[in-house]
Amino acid sequence: MTLVATTSAVWSGDEIRSADREYVIHSWSKQSGPNAKLISGAKGSWFWDSEGKRYLDFQSQLVNMNLGHQHPRLVAAIKEQADRLCYVGPGFAESSRAKLAAKLAQITPGDLTMSFFTTGGAAGNENAVRLARHVTGRQKIVARYRSYHGATAGAMSLTGDPRRWAAEPAVPGVVRMFDPYTYRCPAGHPDPCPVCTGGPHLEEILQYENPYEVAAVILEPVTGTNGLIYPGEGYLQSIRDVCDKYGILLIFDEVMAGFGRTGELFACDHWGVVPDILVTAKGLNSGYVPLGAVTVSASISDWLRNNKFWGGLTYAGHPLACASGLASLEIMEDEGVVANARLQGERLDAGLRRLEQTHSSIGEIRGRGLFYGLELVVDRRSRRPLTPFNAVGDAALPMSRLVKAAMERGLFLSANNSIVRLTPPLVITADEIDHALGILDDVLTIADSYYE
Ligand code: PLP
Repeated sequence: MTLVATTSAVWSGDEIRSADREYVIHSWSKQSGPNAKLISGAKGSWFWDSEGKRYLDFQSQLVNMNLGHQHPRLVAAIKEQADRLCYVGPGFAESSRAKLAAKLAQITPGDLTMSFFTTGGAAGNENAVRLARHVTGRQKIVARYRSYHGATAGAMSLTGDPRRWAAEPAVPGVVRMFDPYTYRCPAGHPDPCPVCTGGPHLEEILQYENPYEVAAVILEPVTGTNGLIYPGEGYLQSIRDVCDKYGILLIFDEVMAGFGRTGELFACDHWGVVPDILVTAKGLNSGYVPLGAVTVSASISDWLRNNKFWGGLTYAGHPLACASGLASLEIMEDEGVVANARLQGERLDAGLRRLEQTHSSIGEIRGRGLFYGLELVVDRRSRRPLTPFNAVGDAALPMSRLVKAAMERGLFLSANNSIVRLTPPLVITADEIDHALGILDDVLTIADSYYE
């Protein structure tokens, strides 16, 4: 039977799933997997499928839905903008776009001033790096191994995680450094550790690369996808100092960690370190319409007033996206969303510390706000991970069993490389945190069963 695809056609669940399977290419997957779940609705921290089964979204989808699903004020702001003006090209002044840029200048740290709007995080990082190259007249970029910066050619070349391999040969000019991953320090964590301190390791790399050829250092102040890694006190400042010494620009990718996720408006606010370029997306508008922003320092803003910006997108500053961004920032202020992230984060932290007493597979708990990771091990003393790095097939089974069991119990989690990521919407309630902890208590027994 041929399906008629019109907006008014009513399809059954099976028909939707079959068209999805036949015609939609899904990210990061073989296209021969089982039927994807059909999601029929969502509200707040929950979504549900066509069978009516409800899931607590402890992932905020792709760690973007900070305000949860279907926030009525956010939906209304998009509708209001759609009624008024859906689109006008980026060369014109437009109300929501101008207001959002002005708001970002007001709330971002330090002297960050002008913003270029993009359609998401990868496009933000592409443009940040391009701009850094133009402003400095230099080509090399230093990026870290345990990073994810997006899936376009340039952003994937900056990315250290193994998803990069399929995109190689990469865009040239990227030099890599290690991360301040104290739990598994690549330098063995001598005291003092040059890698985990940041500056000494960067300085060493720069001596081999010629610091005056390096345009920028790009890093996630708190590493998201690749491990929920929080730097120690002084790390970001020591990187900032080395950048300043050689005239290198510092780019913070806060696509995942920004807008309250870590319990401060921006992750870098925890340490009071200001980048030259801040890249944001996801939580900027909770992903209701694709949006990202590249916000630059006063001195880069001055440079841009005298030099051409060689970058552009048809949808740069899309009015629907900007209207949702502006509304989202207002909602965050009005509803005390960052304070709630801190409060519920404390509850989550306390609950996880309790679970640590009874689940031997918990090697380390890392987090602040509602940006947590549980690193799972088969032996606490040797810290041997539950699954080998970048495990596939049977080797990845312990983690995939745990995530699947959580889903069966109505808890939507994500995990890779032995790290379970706990990143619920910032509007989550205390009862919902307790509900998730109850399910975690149950499914962590799967990880415990591999303990040696
Ligand atoms: N940077 C970071 C830190 C991210 O976590 C992501 C996505 O997860 C990106 C960039 C890419 O963003 P997008 O998928 O919107 O291009």
